[in-house]
Amino acid sequence: MSIEVQNITKIFGDFTALKDVSLHIPAGELTALLGPSGSGKTTLLRIISGLEVPDAGTVFFHGEDMNGTHARDRKVGFVFQHYALFRHMSVYDNVAFGLEVLPRKVKPRKKEIREKVHQLLSLVQLDRLGGRFPSQLSGGQRQRVALARALAVEPKVLLLDEPFGSLDARVRRELRHWLRKLHDEIHVTSVFVTHDQEEALEVADRVVVMNEGRIEQVGTPDDVYHHPATPFVYNFLGNVNLFHARVEGGKAYFGDAVFDLPQGQMQHDTSSAMIYVRPHLLDITRESSGKNDLKARIIYINMAGPVVKIELLSARRDSIQVEISQEHFERLRLKKHEEVYVRPKELKVFTQDYSI
Ligand code: ADP
Ligand code: MG
Repeated sequence: MSIEVQNITKIFGDFTALKDVSLHIPAGELTALLGPSGSGKTTLLRIISGLEVPDAGTVFFHGEDMNGTHARDRKVGFVFQHYALFRHMSVYDNVAFGLEVLPRKVKPRKKEIREKVHQLLSLVQLDRLGGRFPSQLSGGQRQRVALARALAVEPKVLLLDEPFGSLDARVRRELRHWLRKLHDEIHVTSVFVTHDQEEALEVADRVVVMNEGRIEQVGTPDDVYHHPATPFVYNFLGNVNLFHARVEGGKAYFGDAVFDLPQGQMQHDTSSAMIYVRPHLLDITRESSGKNDLKARIIYINMAGPVVKIELLSARRDSIQVEISQEHFERLRLKKHEEVYVRPKELKVFTQDYSI
């Protein structure tokens, strides 16, 4: 079932949490709402679910206006960061709960409930733990139970609010792959809130980047990563070096350095352009070619990890972060305090009005 969010505004006291937000969520897809804390993700999710009422705007489920439809009647499944499972109930009973409390007319028979719960527990790979209590499960297992419980009533929409937020990094990564696979099996329209860009880029079909109550960009993970619409998106989706530069005649001037700008980027001259380069898109050389590189001194080298992280200082005392492969680092034999040249392999230029 598709969801249409149309011109939603939400105000708390004198604070506007959502500002005229419109969004199309395609049926059967896994959409991530990604943004920093306070950007309005949870508020938007709660408005979609019907737990919160917007001050303006409308939510449509499959073309049907949901204003006035109670949360309970919207057929949404919810998984929160701290989904309190019923502590006094077994895993099995937690998952069965939503079915047991259905009105008699629509409540499945005991045998059907049993089959359904077993099916769900096996879907979330907990089929042998049905008899345990929540306190006997790990955090990751508990969130899988929460998901099975949300799915038991066959929701038309699944809403997940930072479901893995309280788990440690390794478990988060495991669960994120698991959720992706699960979604490929069940294809229920899902909205997944996270502030973790890696999580959003890995899990989602489509990423909605939010900032201060607005949507900055909507696109596939590829789109938003490789074609960021705004400096905010570029910044938020990974580490980045920022250089303030002057642009004239298709070239950017930064201190003594001159850079040729990519074709198609920047049509007009300006004294206040921002050049963004990701650390892995900077290379280091010993010789300057007189153009497209910047003199800098190495001040820190960190070799622990899949890539070598190098911090440098430019003549203007800007800090520059570079990442190169271990092999390349060994070939270059770089040393701390050495003076070298930094060369962007790719750069993004934004002016104040965000044109690229
Ligand atoms: P996110 O989930 O992206 O961290 P939220 O949607 O929870 O952001 O909150 C967005 C902003 O709205 C925050 O500044 C938050 O303090 C504010 N806010 C959210 N809910 C309420 C509320 N019930 N009353 C007052 N302010 C709220
Ligand atoms: Mg939130």
